[in-house]
Amino acid sequence: MAYDTQPKASHFVDGAYLEDTAGELIEVIYPATGEVIARVYAATDAVIEAAITSGRRAQAQWAAMSGTERGRVLRRAADIMRERNHELSVLETFDTGKPLQETLVADATSGADALEYFGGLAGSLTGEHVNLGGDWGYTVREPLGLCVGIGAWNYPTQIACWKGAPALACGNAMIFKPSETTPLCALKVAEILHEAGAPAGLYNVIQGMGAVGGKLVTEPRVDKVSLTGSVPTGRKVYAAAAEGMKHVTMELGGKSPLIVFEDAEIDNAVGGAINGNFYSTGQVCSNGTRVFVHSSIKDAFLARLKGRMAGIVMGDPQDEATNIGPMVSQRQRDIVEGYIAKGKAEGATLIAGGETPEGAGFYIQPTVFADVTDEMTIAREEIFGPVMAVLTFDDEAEVIARANATEFGLSAGVFTRDISRAHRVIGQLRAGSCFINSYNDAPVELPFGGVKASGVGRENSKAAIEHYSQLKSVYVRMGDVEAAF
Ligand code: NAD
Repeated sequence: MAYDTQPKASHFVDGAYLEDTAGELIEVIYPATGEVIARVYAATDAVIEAAITSGRRAQAQWAAMSGTERGRVLRRAADIMRERNHELSVLETFDTGKPLQETLVADATSGADALEYFGGLAGSLTGEHVNLGGDWGYTVREPLGLCVGIGAWNYPTQIACWKGAPALACGNAMIFKPSETTPLCALKVAEILHEAGAPAGLYNVIQGMGAVGGKLVTEPRVDKVSLTGSVPTGRKVYAAAAEGMKHVTMELGGKSPLIVFEDAEIDNAVGGAINGNFYSTGQVCSNGTRVFVHSSIKDAFLARLKGRMAGIVMGDPQDEATNIGPMVSQRQRDIVEGYIAKGKAEGATLIAGGETPEGAGFYIQPTVFADVTDEMTIAREEIFGPVMAVLTFDDEAEVIARANATEFGLSAGVFTRDISRAHRVIGQLRAGSCFINSYNDAPVELPFGGVKASGVGRENSKAAIEHYSQLKSVYVRMGDVEAAF
């Protein structure tokens, strides 16, 4: 293999690579071939301690700098990421199996956007002056302290930056623990931030499974936890963080509705459904996996969708012509196969895909089921794979009620040419990140996050600042103090 995927060491702590082979071995498997491409070790207590000690020391130093100086470091890191986009994208593809066609435009580039955006905001994070009629007060926007980021495996570079950039902009330090399935990319983010001038220890990356994440969450010297992961993990992490009264951001799972009205421009709706189900081989939290199509256009929609699926190029993800790569792991493919079997057994109509190709790698065909009903397992549970469920509806109130009948609330989309209806329907959907005549766009300027079981807090945009800082208020008396005695 021409590209060396083995990192210099498992962890990046206090400005340098750090190894401790006493930790549990984590083999990094290339999803396209099943080969082991790197080995790292889970953080031992000694590594965790080094990350916490250096993180707290660096945070004090970093918070003492002006916002403009901090922002300059983040913006320099953004430039370095963009310069190295190709190399970082190739690594992202080895880590996740996502096609290079995607990683070139959606991962390091998105990470760089976050570093640039929050770098730009860092100098303008101010409090306010409050007139109290003679006396006065002011507020100071202060950092939280040492933040912990815990990542999922689908967007390892992006998640490391979406959490790190606002945290650092606000004057915090971060310890980031990537998913054990994709441990490689975050190390590059740490390297780049260090090269850009971040003080040693400001952004530490340590490896490990849930147990390492759990130790960080319960560590008294940690002030905030931001998790991207599944709802069951979110419940555990939220509860553990509550014990220590820590701030939290929870970016969790979804089973989002994408509603296609009878007046929709069908090719765009089909394009939205493809982006919202098959990008990253379906491993996207905000996916619109319940596609509600008005019954009068069901046949036309399915015919166009089938036609477009002839354009699938599944294969070597490092080949830029490939648009569907493997699932991230054997385990995840097994889960998806189980859901496809359930879809068939519960009576949904298989329209496309459904097969597992022969040969190496964790590939599975993009799959479409029609005639799906609300009670079927594939319409209720997050699959996190390329399985689209098409349901039909007849009227607006009905589809809104059905779309909302889920514990999740991450995203929702509406395709219609009727602008009043578009806003009316979106206004009634209980979801955090919504789309009109589009699906799955996530620019850094817009807040991203869920309602209900899909999460707490928001990433990206100015809203993220609220989740990585806190206000101190100061009352200033100008006259004498009156007291009862
Ligand atoms: P997961 O919940 O299995 O793991 C997420 C992370 O949590 C991993 O790093 C894991 O090691 C860690 N972890 C597990 N148990 C822990 C514990 N008890 N304490 C602390 N940390 C612990 O999720 P996954 O399988 O890696 O990712 C897929 C899930 O992530 C899906 O549900 C998907 O929807 C969700 N996701 C959400 C978003 C979002 O922004 N809303 C983005 C991507 C993925």
